[in-house]
Amino acid sequence: MRRKLAAGNWKMNGLTAQLAEAEALVQAHPAPGVDMLLCPPATLLAPMVERAKGTPLAVGGQDCHKAGSGAHTGDISAPMLADSGASHVILGHSERRADHGERNEDVRAKANAALSAGLTCVICCGESEAERDASNTLDIIGGQLSGSVPDGVTGHNLVVAYEPIWAIGTGRTPTLNQIGEVHDFIRARLERRFGEGIGRSVRLLYGGSVKPDNAEEIFNVSNVDGALVGGASLKASDFSAIITALEGARNQG
Ligand code: PEP
Repeated sequence: MRRKLAAGNWKMNGLTAQLAEAEALVQAHPAPGVDMLLCPPATLLAPMVERAKGTPLAVGGQDCHKAGSGAHTGDISAPMLADSGASHVILGHSERRADHGERNEDVRAKANAALSAGLTCVICCGESEAERDASNTLDIIGGQLSGSVPDGVTGHNLVVAYEPIWAIGTGRTPTLNQIGEVHDFIRARLERRFGEGIGRSVRLLYGGSVKPDNAEEIFNVSNVDGALVGGASLKASDFSAIITALEGARNQG
């Protein structure tokens, strides 16, 4: 059975004082029935890892370079993330794809670097509103999966997040049927490429305006194994309510 995962993406938010929210989260969930992950900005990785020691909170980066080291000013490598104590890294987020021109092959190269460093990759995919309106959603997701996900992954080192671009930070979400259709499709694609055993063991997260008041219904959709949460992960009380909803989800994978 897949263990559910609640992952928070703080994006470019959070100064040192924000670490109090991570501490409040672990106080609220000292022994959660799901996995908990927070991905703070790079400046907060090491101090968050320090505070998370001995707790069930895992800490991850939001991106990494495909090279292990070198002349890449401002970038951060996968071994650096691992060295800071991170266990996960988000890759191919739509904001990286849009703001930094990341293509599927870039995401795949970064994922290979992350795997080599022993990190678990949270690889994001998702369609734009125009692509959904043109009924191209599954084609887009299929292309992103085959282009971005490297060979040799397992249920331990790969998580896939479905994040419709038009739902991120907008307060809008797809219907439950639309979420289920895409998650079932991703599951089938992973099973076809990696075999049933691995394909069934990879956790699939939904992301895009998940909030305490819509989490429960989303978590009961088939093949939704958790969420990648942006805005609502910044406040421990909101993220905690989402974690509690995930713990209570009927969908057992
Ligand atoms: C995200 O950017 O990964 C995300 C899901 O953001 P939000 O929850 O704020 O829509």
